Amino acid sequence: MTQRTINGVSIECIQGDIANQPDMDAIVNAANAELHPGGGVAGAIHHAAGPGLDEECRPLAPIRPGQAVITGAHNLPNRHVIHCLGPVYGVDEPSDKLLADCYRNALRLAEQNGLGAIAFPAISTGAFGFPLESATRIAMATFVAEIPRLESVKRIRCVLFQSPDLKIYDRLLGEVAR
Ligand code: ADP
Repeated sequence: MTQRTINGVSIECIQGDIANQPDMDAIVNAANAELHPGGGVAGAIHHAAGPGLDEECRPLAPIRPGQAVITGAHNLPNRHVIHCLGPVYGVDEPSDKLLADCYRNALRLAEQNGLGAIAFPAISTGAFGFPLESATRIAMATFVAEIPRLESVKRIRCVLFQSPDLKIYDRLLGEVAR
């Protein structure tokens, strides 16, 4: 685990399950366009949240790559779920910009809702095929760029499922903030 503070905002990287982050106000879903349960992160979040989340999502879908929408968290221990549609790598272009849009739009939604703590998975790096290291650089650069605008958000947590992924996050967080 690595933790750094930039302008009073903490960024931390941990290994874990995005659906089990009880101390976070919001968790981010690596959603699909239809906001359906599916597999990976979306499957874990919908499974833990229960069918009420799927019902709340239905009228909000479809969403576009880079877009983020916010819902309640239902049976999850959080206040909200922020659903982001990451780009499919090599298909939704420009992938870099669309991935940055996800992180920026999710942070702005958290801010607009007065949330203090938000946890992100590694959006687009599973089924959507984005190389983890490039995706991590985009996530970190977007956090650093957005932090000066944040007032309510004080904690950003990156939750990695796999330990090799956490190592990459730890290294790149160390590079953006020493
Ligand atoms: P995408 O479709 O945006 O690529 P995925 O859900 O397939 O999203 O995967 C995104 C990343 O989340 C992958 O790196 C995967 O290893 C990781 N992941 C899968 N399940 C979980 C979970 N329960 N908590 C945190 N990360 C997860």
